[in-house]
Amino acid sequence: MLRAMYRVEQLIGGVWGAGGTGGQQTVVDPADGTPVSTVPVATADEVVKAVAAAREAAPGWAATAPADRAAALVRAAAAVEAAAEDLARATTAEMGKPLDDARGGVAAGIGTLRQYAELGPLRGGRTLHGATDAIDFMTPQPRGVVAVITPWNDPVAVSCGLLGAALVTGNVVLYKPSERTPATGWLLARALDEALPSGVLSLLTGGAEVGAALAGQEVDVVAHVGSTATGRAIAAACARTGAKALLENGGSDPLIVDAGVDPGWAAEQAALGAFANAGQICVAVERLYVHRDLADDFVAALVERAGALRMGPGRDPGTELGPLVDRRHRDHVHGQVTAAVAEGARLRVGGTLPAGPGAFYPATVVTGCTDEMALVRQETFGPVAPVVVVDSFGEALKRAARSPYGLAATVLTASMGHAQRAWRELPVGTVKVNAVFGGAPGGAAQPRRGSGQGFGYGPELLDELTTTKAVHLEPPTPTW
Ligand code: NAD
Repeated sequence: MLRAMYRVEQLIGGVWGAGGTGGQQTVVDPADGTPVSTVPVATADEVVKAVAAAREAAPGWAATAPADRAAALVRAAAAVEAAAEDLARATTAEMGKPLDDARGGVAAGIGTLRQYAELGPLRGGRTLHGATDAIDFMTPQPRGVVAVITPWNDPVAVSCGLLGAALVTGNVVLYKPSERTPATGWLLARALDEALPSGVLSLLTGGAEVGAALAGQEVDVVAHVGSTATGRAIAAACARTGAKALLENGGSDPLIVDAGVDPGWAAEQAALGAFANAGQICVAVERLYVHRDLADDFVAALVERAGALRMGPGRDPGTELGPLVDRRHRDHVHGQVTAAVAEGARLRVGGTLPAGPGAFYPATVVTGCTDEMALVRQETFGPVAPVVVVDSFGEALKRAARSPYGLAATVLTASMGHAQRAWRELPVGTVKVNAVFGGAPGGAAQPRRGSGQGFGYGPELLDELTTTKAVHLEPPTPTW
């Protein structure tokens, strides 16, 4: 048996290596099945103790001056930068994405930490004068204890956003990274903890049961990025404890391809949106509504692009399509593709399980899809482009809007009128016109429907993680 590269430890009450008596899990490399990480599992009792220890540490961190907290975050960002290559390699080993993409995710995370360090101390509130010599001010205060529960698909970037925003606003944090990328979470927590006072950050590891135990505690906020089903379970747990739930969840983002655009360019955008990170991006293109006028040319160009992608281990330079995160997830993706084909859709490229080790899945294009197919309606989270042909832009908008999710949407169009209709009418948090990715750093939106609630990004996340106190000040009755 090969030895795992990483031996993850928990951080509870400022002590590394604490607890983990709930068992041990092993993460294997999705490219070849070799062991990557061994991970302790927190017991429910350890979760309770970690929350109690965090509660003890909360007042000291809340009373630290905002500029000092920001300085700590600047040091934390430098520590993450020093560990950047290790973090990228751990990400690729644990979840499979091409190493350059993993490096990009780490760099984005570091940028977010620095952005929050800048923004944190600048925050203030309104002042009012209800009477001439009275002052009212409204000031943000930390919420207290924040549970941060994160996914595996872009583990450093996603975690840095929530951790940076929660810490700089004066909250103590209990961090539960995904059980599929625990060593990445552990390396990140080690780097951050170097720069923070002891006890401000805790790390709990294990699977859904550890996340559920944490979300059930009397914390002040549970911030979750992950699937819609988990988000709903967390919202229910928060309803019982009174904690605030901040949820950035799943999506089934549409791409609308209007008549009159260049089909080659549209296929390039579609391929990027559907196949980057093997489709494992919350805002990946998950269903395509293509105008009949260019559908044949568009599909031909997309099939060509899908077939040309170099599939291989994420660590190999030149790999464009890494494996899926694991075989369990591959079964989910392939299950949706085969069900669509059984219901009458036509495979144009991909859609077959490759022989050999790992969790590879080819870039896949399926035509003749209907809105009722799970492949179109549900989140697939794989490198699959299901194409639905439409007769008008209006029809595309209507069908794109009919979804249990409301994360984002992209429209490719040369018509300003259509672009304007799209951003006004689509019931999603983010609308992108003529580019599937590329929003400005610091941008933020509120997801809708099953995609979550609250701002998970940008300066607005700082508001989510603080609570506003109003103070009314008057001089005493004069006694002089
Ligand atoms: P997941 O919800 O299964 O897991 C995410 C985290 O939640 C993990 O740490 C997991 O252990 C924990 N968890 C699982 N069950 C729990 C429970 N009952 N109570 C508390 N915690 C629990 O999601 P995943 O498979 O890791 O990630 C993929 C999903 O994340 C996709 O749906 C994707 O769209 C979504 N995602 C959304 C965004 C966004 O910004 N909207 C960003 C990235 C990923």
